[in-house]
Amino acid sequence: IDADVVIVGAGPAGLVLGNLLRAAGIDCLILERRSREHVENRARAGFLAANSVRVLTENGLADGLLTNGVRHDTCAFRDDRAEFELKYSELGNGEVHTVYPQQFLVTDLIAEFLARGGEIRFGTEVSSVSGMDATVIADDLLLRAKYIAGCDGRRGISLRSVPARVFRRDHDISWLAILAEAPPSMSAIGYAIHERGFAGHMARTSTVTRYYLEVPPGEDPENWGDDRIWDELHVRMRADRYGELKRGAIIERRIVDMASRVMDTIQRGNLFLAGDAASLISPAAAKGANLALMEAEILAHALIEALTETDTTALERYSADCLPRIWRAQEFSLWMINLLHGPAGYDDEAVFQRALRDARLESLRVSRAHQDFFAENYVGV
Ligand code: FAD
Repeated sequence: IDADVVIVGAGPAGLVLGNLLRAAGIDCLILERRSREHVENRARAGFLAANSVRVLTENGLADGLLTNGVRHDTCAFRDDRAEFELKYSELGNGEVHTVYPQQFLVTDLIAEFLARGGEIRFGTEVSSVSGMDATVIADDLLLRAKYIAGCDGRRGISLRSVPARVFRRDHDISWLAILAEAPPSMSAIGYAIHERGFAGHMARTSTVTRYYLEVPPGEDPENWGDDRIWDELHVRMRADRYGELKRGAIIERRIVDMASRVMDTIQRGNLFLAGDAASLISPAAAKGANLALMEAEILAHALIEALTETDTTALERYSADCLPRIWRAQEFSLWMINLLHGPAGYDDEAVFQRALRDARLESLRVSRAHQDFFAENYVGV
């Protein structure tokens, strides 16, 4: 065999899994179709939940995060009526986020995996995966393993080799995801509910900020020049009322569709899925990377037991362990979608849905019980 465990994909899921396996002395090989430079510069998530920080800290993977990550504990909601802040460190379970851009985390995890004696083959595309005989075909080469971890993201190949009942939902909502070379404009995460559509503000570093603008599905991001983006953010974030936005060059604009995919099993034979390959979650509640880390930890423990103690009990119940947590995150993510969006138009259904959204937001503003529910789910997995 070529390795005890072959991991497809060097994103957060595959790299955390690889590092935990290497720490237990397990021979593993990561296959990644992109270059190292590409994955180390791919800006995506930024908000790590308390459980993710624990996983990284307990496994010696948090040096960069603890040195350069920033504690974050407040979000602000704005609508026509008012702005209110929720300091979630004082609500629910009292947990906070740590803001550490995903590309920094991926860079740290690659360095540590190599330092632990792991091997990553960049620029290697996997074209087929089989859980039944634990093989992968990568660049026309057949590789054999004892186990395969499919950590190849939402459009990866691995999930196609897991026969499962698949539940998909397209929420028919799209965001223009923007990275601006500008310092954050607010100390809180900002969620603006506006008749022109949702707008969001999320700090990344002292010089880069992520913004979101709801746009019609199918929108071409190239229709959005820098000035148009800033002017629209100005209106929807109500900058006249709550303070000007700090503008800068737009360095990335891409469309993110709100979509969910959950499968009724995430394993087949000796193939196990983790991260976006295992389930896709809309970014409304910033859960994707956090679920990826949670699953990577569960899968690592199960594989270590199987390989070092020949006990496969945990591997057999891997789907059963992960799926309830995946569904819970999906449920909260849908709750966030419904909190932040309402259909446009003046027909009865649109007005009804927007009135429900406004009632939901008002309840969150005034009800301590509702705020505790929000905080517990927002930072927890
Ligand atoms: P990925 O990071 O997608 O990694 C999969 C890897 O597999 C990739 O490197 C890919 O190149 C490789 N691959 C794919 N196919 C093959 C193949 N055939 N052969 C070999 N390699 C292959 N989540 C949060 O928790 N918080 C946030 O704030 C947040 N913000 C986000 C903002 C944006 C704009 C986006 C797009 C996502 C955001 N997410 C967020 C989601 C988060 O980024 C993902 O959930 C996370 O990257 C999933 O990690 P992963 O390792 O499963 O997959």
